[in-house]
Amino acid sequence: MKKYLFIILILTISGVIWADFGGSLNRNIPFYNATRADSAHGFDVLKYDITLDIDDQAHYIEGSVTATVLAEEYLTEINYELEELNVSSVLVNGSAAGFNYEDGLITIDLPGIASGEEFTTTVEYYGYPQLSDDIYSIGMIFNINYVFTLSDPSGCRWWFPAYDHPWDKAEIDFHVTMRDDWLVACNGIRTGIEDNEDGTKTHHWLGSNPMATHLPCISAANFIEINQDYDGMQIQNFVTPNQEGDAIIDFQNLPATIDLYSDKFGEYPFEKYGNAVVPMVTFGAMEHQTMTTLAMYMITGDMSYEVTIAHELAHQWFGNCLTPLTWADVWLSEGFATYSEAIYMEEFYGRAAMLDYVFQNIQQYYLGWASGGSYTVYDPVYNSYFNPVQYEKAASILHMLRKTVGDEDFYSILQNYFQEYHNQCVITSDFQGIIEDYTGDDFSQFFQQWIFEPGIPSYDYTYFVDHNSVPKRLASYVKTTSNSGTDFFLKIPVQIINNAEIEEIMVNSSPGNAMETIIDLSTEEDPEEILFDPEGWMLVHGKNYHQVTINNAYAADGRVLLYWNDFWEEVEVDGYNVYCCWLPGSEFEKINDELITETFYEDVDLENGITYYYKISAVINASFESELSDLYEATPIEFPFDQGILVVDETYDGNGAPGSPTDEMVDQFYENIFSLPITSYDYSAEGVPATEYLSHFSTILWHDDDIGQNNINSALTPLGCYLISGGNLIISGWKTADAIEDFFLRDFMNVDNVQLINSMDFTGVSSEFYSDMDVDFEKVSPAFQTGLPYIATFPEAELELFTYNSYSGTNQDEICATESDQTGEFIFLGFPLYYFWEDDAVLFLNELLEELGETGADDIQTADYKIAIKAFPNPFNPSTELNFALPRDYENLSLKIYNIKGQLIKDLISGFASAGEHSVIWNGKDLNGKPVSSGLYLYCLEADDRLIINKMMLLK
Ligand SMILES: [Zn+2]
Repeated sequence: MKKYLFIILILTISGVIWADFGGSLNRNIPFYNATRADSAHGFDVLKYDITLDIDDQAHYIEGSVTATVLAEEYLTEINYELEELNVSSVLVNGSAAGFNYEDGLITIDLPGIASGEEFTTTVEYYGYPQLSDDIYSIGMIFNINYVFTLSDPSGCRWWFPAYDHPWDKAEIDFHVTMRDDWLVACNGIRTGIEDNEDGTKTHHWLGSNPMATHLPCISAANFIEINQDYDGMQIQNFVTPNQEGDAIIDFQNLPATIDLYSDKFGEYPFEKYGNAVVPMVTFGAMEHQTMTTLAMYMITGDMSYEVTIAHELAHQWFGNCLTPLTWADVWLSEGFATYSEAIYMEEFYGRAAMLDYVFQNIQQYYLGWASGGSYTVYDPVYNSYFNPVQYEKAASILHMLRKTVGDEDFYSILQNYFQEYHNQCVITSDFQGIIEDYTGDDFSQFFQQWIFEPGIPSYDYTYFVDHNSVPKRLASYVKTTSNSGTDFFLKIPVQIINNAEIEEIMVNSSPGNAMETIIDLSTEEDPEEILFDPEGWMLVHGKNYHQVTINNAYAADGRVLLYWNDFWEEVEVDGYNVYCCWLPGSEFEKINDELITETFYEDVDLENGITYYYKISAVINASFESELSDLYEATPIEFPFDQGILVVDETYDGNGAPGSPTDEMVDQFYENIFSLPITSYDYSAEGVPATEYLSHFSTILWHDDDIGQNNINSALTPLGCYLISGGNLIISGWKTADAIEDFFLRDFMNVDNVQLINSMDFTGVSSEFYSDMDVDFEKVSPAFQTGLPYIATFPEAELELFTYNSYSGTNQDEICATESDQTGEFIFLGFPLYYFWEDDAVLFLNELLEELGETGADDIQTADYKIAIKAFPNPFNPSTELNFALPRDYENLSLKIYNIKGQLIKDLISGFASAGEHSVIWNGKDLNGKPVSSGLYLYCLEADDRLIINKMMLLK
């Protein structure tokens, strides 16, 4: 059947498969083994003859059901289910018999029936049929213009007496008497309609194939028939006259779909097929044997529900002809019918549409429904027989099985399975057995992880290519995790793409440790692209690719320093290679002679003003190399250090109240505490300071007095460039150490561990090297009068500058300031200097500046150093834009283009230029308006005595 649940689409990537690790597992979970024990009952019902008078106005029925039964053991009684109706008499072999009817069970006395003997029971009954009092609300449904039945699961007992369990199939012979202006649609072949001349007609339907007791049906209304033909077999659809036009359109693919499934699964198993359309709300559709019941809303005239119509048809093979023995195995019905929707999509709309349908409508639908929960396909609880676990999760599993064994074997397996269990009941191990017989492989792990245990996996992966081998070889490493504790062993499709050709291989994944797969590829060239499951075959929550990630690239005078992350801990790498190019788009060349075993590299002898581009790879097993990292760029420049001290105030202007100083108060504080002249830079007004600007200052103090905002991460690249060039950097911030990216402290301070002390406990600092300092509580918010909260400590710092003075005593002597002199001097204060007594700060800074050798600038002209000019794009063709900002008006400013020989090419600006931002376009033409040739050009900005020269490249 098809239930309709609202659709949540969540985008995760991809899907799953297994591998044959069967015997080698070292696990404590016993493998599950499904059995047929549930179904033993001592007899076999062969046929039900159902004679039923239905009064659609009174909602009343009178009936007689004769069951032909084969005894499989000596029987003295037999039980049938019947709910909320009245039994008037019971016959056994045509003679009156004793019976007891209570609690929904008719117990019939038998005269002692020997095993192997056939006998009949007849139950005469009448009454007003009720609907099941559970979530399904099924039975015989009376609507003003319709009467129809729903019996799934185990629900025929609400309208006729039977041994109502899915494991005893029987033929059904209906004689249904109704008002004479209606048609009755049932299972099997209609053999006659008899006019009783009393305002009623009796409709005779014979279902000559055995069916489970949830599959018989009666649908009656003022129907007309729409008949179709499949290879001489009747397709008989029942709709009301107003639906005829739409239904003809909506059912148009039915013959071709029967043909499709007959081709894929085996010939259509029954004597006819059809649909009866009724105003059903319980389900969207129900696959009654040979006569599906469809909800009225599915008839649209534009085939909106074509996959549902196909789904119900597919149930004739899987669900009806092969019926799950118990509800524990219901996925053998619903999972197969749901996957048949994808097979339908592939046939009528193509392979890409099928893959998209599986990804969006099956996998993503399931993951959205399941959300964070983990569910088991096998053995759902009563209220959950028809949840997406049995539908979409099970269908996803069949999709992965198909990928594992390949299309041809997949359909052969389905055909063998269908043939082997034709008109029988099936359990999960029947299907597993067919697969194993066919492939010769052990599928117990596949069934264990997907069917018998809950959850959905994710996987982490990486890969390497041996560039030296011919043909190329691939080494993949894949590790599975899951949201359920289930161990998933996957076989993941990987596409190797070269010259528009795709080679597909399968690689293994395991939980615990990443599983290695080394495979010879067919290509002799380096693959252009390697993609893990790009078609989304695997049902997974996600996949996580591991590669080298460059933390940052820092440029100094004639050199660049690169830092990158450790590779994935699941793979031990030999080392790293660094690749460089200085024109984007050109070939990257390896620049290291030997493998780099550290996670940083310094590229030297570079030309200032040129942008260099870097990528990094990891190497294993001597010759296998990972994919290159993402690209990082750096432009070396000169660092003159000629302007003394710069204070960068990163905090936005405060209101002047304690705890919220204005920019002026901050400026005043630093002017007071520094004995040397300083230059102030206001982050909120001027943005991230450019590296070129910072390069002029021999000492920078980064100030942050606000716990609510930390902007330092926007300036890590210029600050890193500054440090590796030998500048002195002092960071004094509130929460800054906690906010700053970990890699920056690791790269420049060798500090891995920063902790924030949140309690209001900090009263000052003590030091062996510098003067002690105390907090000036008049500057602090009244809320923090016992001590400042959010002070950073560096528990594992090697160099201890200051330790924490604690109001409570708890945090006394924790290290709260540290330094490093890896290249430049880097002093990190885990507290905001601003909130200390000025006199204390003066002493500390005098000592510090003396130690740093900072003597200030002879001639401060900082405003001019804020000028920076950049060409964008660069390289360019045919034009580029030169952008610069001026801190003040200039009487005489010039912007000129020269070629590499120093010849003037173009005079862009000459004369007065006002303060503010400027943008000038150079169209690549010379003084005579003639386009210039490809090559390197210099753009020179001269403002008073400032001269900035940068390079740019015209590429045609
Ligand atoms: Zn279904």
